Amino acid sequence: MAKIMAVNCGSSSFKFKLYEMPEEKVITSGIVERIGHEDAIFQIKINGESKKTIVPVKDHGVAVQIVMDALLENKIIEHLDEIKATGHRVVQGGPYFKESALFNEDTYSKIESLIPLAPLHNKAHLVGFDAFKKVLPNTPAVAVFDTAFHQTMDKEDYTYPIKKEYTEKYMIRRYGAHGTSHKYLSEIGEKYIEKDGDKRIIVCHLGSGASITAVKNGKCVATSMGLTPLGGIMMNTRTGDLDPSVYYQVLKMSGKDNETIFQEFNKESGLYGVSGVSNDSRDVEKAALEGNPDAQLALDLWARRIADFIGQYFVRLGGCDLIIFSAGIGENSPESREMIMDRTKEALEIAYDRDLDYAGKRGTTFTITKPESKIKVMVIPTDEEVMLARDAYKAYLDMKGNN
Ligand code: AMP
Repeated sequence: MAKIMAVNCGSSSFKFKLYEMPEEKVITSGIVERIGHEDAIFQIKINGESKKTIVPVKDHGVAVQIVMDALLENKIIEHLDEIKATGHRVVQGGPYFKESALFNEDTYSKIESLIPLAPLHNKAHLVGFDAFKKVLPNTPAVAVFDTAFHQTMDKEDYTYPIKKEYTEKYMIRRYGAHGTSHKYLSEIGEKYIEKDGDKRIIVCHLGSGASITAVKNGKCVATSMGLTPLGGIMMNTRTGDLDPSVYYQVLKMSGKDNETIFQEFNKESGLYGVSGVSNDSRDVEKAALEGNPDAQLALDLWARRIADFIGQYFVRLGGCDLIIFSAGIGENSPESREMIMDRTKEALEIAYDRDLDYAGKRGTTFTITKPESKIKVMVIPTDEEVMLARDAYKAYLDMKGNN
């Protein structure tokens, strides 16, 4: 048995989950938010109860120290060296990482070199890693990349039709995102496909960030997100794919600067931008029910784009055995799933069972199609953190074995 910590560092937040491995039992979890402020928020679960305190947290180093102190004070651990490894989420692994990698000088400098492709994220991950290195200097740390699962795509699936020079010199291509979730879900999904031959899955990770991946025999062949998480399907606040001229025209006609437009396309578009209501899909659904036509249009657009990707990936996979819905919206909103099913079921011969869908219990795995359906459709809760813990635990075992 070993305690392993899953770590997700953002520019002003640090989320963690402490696991007992290999049982995959969550011992505790929590978050430090508003890092860099006098009134940062620290939350941790002690014996199942969430404890919240407001504390000054100057930087990520202080955040990590606060968490470690809380673990010791609450006797969750007796000594820091009980934590045998940490698994750090890293958004952008570029073309370098096909799988998770132990943090060493080479890994660090590659993640650093990819900062231009994920400026907020990769920088924050390194700051987080540095903070851990100070507090747990001898504990192995593993980088787990959101992009790694998508590295199996063929060139024709990841290359953009732009000048070769840009592809090569600036490494501009499709990398995808949410790879850890897509991997987790497709691994579970495969077990539900009872047939010989190719196992073809379309995974719909529909959270506030959202992406769809086509998976054949456990390998990603196509994914909707692009160079950055702005691409692909429409999201809560992000545009998804657009004609590049849309960007050019908005820039020219609004008179706003480049950075402002880029931020607007990331943070004020999608469901929020079209509805003008909220960046939370629950509010948009409520407004649509109350008769707000912009909210209805936003939802229709959202579902249409997802249906289009499902159709595209059906062709890309040469058919499909299983469609998986997951993440915040995919797991919790039967209304959203129904909208997508209504736009795909006829062409793909999906025998959607609305009653089953609406009866599904939140947080569980269930099927929303009838047995005769040509494609099985399931809701499966995702768990990205456990994948971080698994890879960190594996690295710990490998290192132990080599000593
Ligand atoms: P995630 O990024 O996976 O944490 O998903 C967060 C998003 O899920 C929120 O912004 C909500 O829009 C959405 N969400 C969560 N619960 C529900 C629900 N019951 N119905 C509709 N959307 C939901």
